[in-house]
Amino acid sequence: MKSYEQLFIDGRWVAPVHNGSFETIDPSTEQTIAKVAAATAEDVDLAVKAARKAFDEGPWPRMRGGDRAAVLRRIGQGIRDRLPELAEIEVRDNGKPLPEALWDVGDAAGCFEYYADLAEQLDERAETPVALPDERFSSVARKEPVGVAGAITPWNFPILMAAWKVAPALAAGCTMVLKPSELTPLTALELAHIAAAADLPPGVLNIVTGTGKDAGAPLSEHPGIDKLAFTGSVPTGSRIMQAAARDIKNVSLELGGKSPFIVFDDSDIDAAVEWIMFGIFWNQGEVCSATSRVLVQRGIYERLLARLEKEARKISIGNGLQEGVLLGPLVSKGQYDKVREAVQRGKDEGAHLMTGGARPAHLDKGYFIEPVVFADVPTDSWIWKEEIFGPVVCIRAFDDEAEAVRLANDSRFGLGAAVMSRDDERCERVARALRAGIVWINCSQPTFTEAPWGGYKQSGIGRELGEWGLNNYLETKQITRYVSGKPWGWYIR
Ligand code: NAD
Repeated sequence: MKSYEQLFIDGRWVAPVHNGSFETIDPSTEQTIAKVAAATAEDVDLAVKAARKAFDEGPWPRMRGGDRAAVLRRIGQGIRDRLPELAEIEVRDNGKPLPEALWDVGDAAGCFEYYADLAEQLDERAETPVALPDERFSSVARKEPVGVAGAITPWNFPILMAAWKVAPALAAGCTMVLKPSELTPLTALELAHIAAAADLPPGVLNIVTGTGKDAGAPLSEHPGIDKLAFTGSVPTGSRIMQAAARDIKNVSLELGGKSPFIVFDDSDIDAAVEWIMFGIFWNQGEVCSATSRVLVQRGIYERLLARLEKEARKISIGNGLQEGVLLGPLVSKGQYDKVREAVQRGKDEGAHLMTGGARPAHLDKGYFIEPVVFADVPTDSWIWKEEIFGPVVCIRAFDDEAEAVRLANDSRFGLGAAVMSRDDERCERVARALRAGIVWINCSQPTFTEAPWGGYKQSGIGRELGEWGLNNYLETKQITRYVSGKPWGWYIR
């Protein structure tokens, strides 16, 4: 494998100031796949200064949106040109099955293309007239880039989470320092090569790899950053918000979830099982919006459980590069241990383990775990309340709509939620009652670049994707002009 021992700062590949490096592991084989540059505060400082200079003096924020769009489209095309290769890197770094990685990489390219369109539209839409009640004045609201953005991303969708931040930030005219997760840093570094080949001006996108402590914290604390965009866990989100509070940085947070799925007893059981499985076993359940709490109306509870158990036992587990594999390993030893502990905890708490939780017999290496179905999960148990971030679904029965909505909303999280019923009115009613940023009706998880993404409560602040994602990186400036008539003041008579 090629070397990843340099950081991308100011359009150049440079060794970290202290020449540090760390290893990234293939979670299917537990083998090291690459040595990666370990940035520290000094490197972060250089990256922020480069981004600052590119923002304060460089062409990027001053260009027409249409010209930025051309660069974004070239980045999108650059990703597409290398799609199979990037997908394979993602599988080796993260563990996910290849078809899912191909999907992620394609989506990442699509994200750049989508925000290219919005960048172009900014030329027309940057200024909107504001109606004033006083005809002596006229006013416009003008959208301008927020400045230098610091982005910190997680390991579950490495290139896609980077795209969700880099594409709208660049479309808006911001410059950026991106720190990807130390568990899956490789595709972010490849993205830097693609951006450079697309003629992105130096300093507009800087990529520093390293740990949260040594690279993430200095980035979130750096006074040269105007905006922090973070996706990750609630505890880290809280630390980032505290760092942002010190100098009042603009901040957006995409955090964890414990997303409920309410299945009424008029639902098609096969369809419900398919969406539940997609919701919790896709990407090994390492999905912030994963369908991790399922509420099933009592009339179909036993039948649905039996069907789900049967299907979960059939899932093929293995190295994501092997054909037909539907469930890869968890991303790391740490995550594997956490999920195994959660399964033990669920058993201790009295939930009924229907299937899964063990290492598959045919795999003696790698962080593999059989998909887990827990039934009759007590509402006061840890596994019902906390995010496990693995292929573990917690299910319980409910009797009526009011109980289902109450149980679904009884969480400190509010990212995703879903409802299934043949009764459209009931679906609409429940969708409106659910306290979550994303609600799916008769499905769970479909995600579109065009639609807003983000959480209520402790699942985050702000929205990514769609025009909301672009607004994350824009300030609104009021420009008010005195036109004619009697001045407003009263000093000179
Ligand atoms: P994490 O919080 O451990 O790490 C996320 C990123 O923060 C990594 O790049 C890490 O290096 C960095 N980091 C860690 N400590 C830091 C610090 N003190 N200062 C600055 N940066 C620091 O999360 P993770 O384990 O990588 O990801 C899993 C979590 O992410 C889950 O809770 C999941 O729900 C959440 N997630 C949310 C979304 C969403 O859109 N809401 C999407 C994906 C993942």
